[in-house]
Amino acid sequence: MTTTECPERPLLPVGKIVAVGRNYADHVREMGGGAADPPVLFLKPSSALVAGGGAIALPAFSHEVHHEVELVVRVGRGGERFAPADAARAIDACAVGLDLTARDLQSEARKRGEPWAVAKGFDGSAPISALVPVDDLRELSDLGLALTLNGVARQQGHVAQMVLPIADLVAFVSSRFRLEPGDLIFTGTPAGVGPVHAGDVVVATLGRPGAAPLARLDVRFVAPAASIVR
Ligand code: MG
Repeated sequence: MTTTECPERPLLPVGKIVAVGRNYADHVREMGGGAADPPVLFLKPSSALVAGGGAIALPAFSHEVHHEVELVVRVGRGGERFAPADAARAIDACAVGLDLTARDLQSEARKRGEPWAVAKGFDGSAPISALVPVDDLRELSDLGLALTLNGVARQQGHVAQMVLPIADLVAFVSSRFRLEPGDLIFTGTPAGVGPVHAGDVVVATLGRPGAAPLARLDVRFVAPAASIVR
């Protein structure tokens, strides 16, 4: 199992990674969806996680990998079918992450009615920053997200724009998957997603508007890797 850094709390093994799509209305619109489209849940395997960012090899089987900057929350206390008020106490840390998406594979899967497993879960598709401890989800009620690509602003959003606010989202996830300590939840992306290529540098930040970032993730994309045997 992989562990992530959380300086003020004991390290936990990272469990499953649950992600939500269509949780910001402006992103739903840019993807051609309608306002009534409900958020959708999907999973990423632990092999998608890249704790701390750094160099990420693009997958050889996609020609259109998109960045999606997201608030990531970590489950500290597990359970099932939380009420939103209980969900607020289940989260013990947050981070900024990228839900990297092979958009060409996802579009093809959509057409064919097939799962998004590869499009959303390929190796390296879930880089996250160092984890920042939180005592209560209310601490996460005034957080902005931003992403630059090669120094140019591409995505900006605020958690207040979420279709399902964080507590409701965690409660909803817990109604579909039992949550266990160490699970991560990617909470959706605002508008401005777009492609990345080898050589590109992405910087993602999370923080209170106008203040220094609470979390920062730096990723440099590199060409697909040769075969690796371990
Ligand atoms: Mg996403």
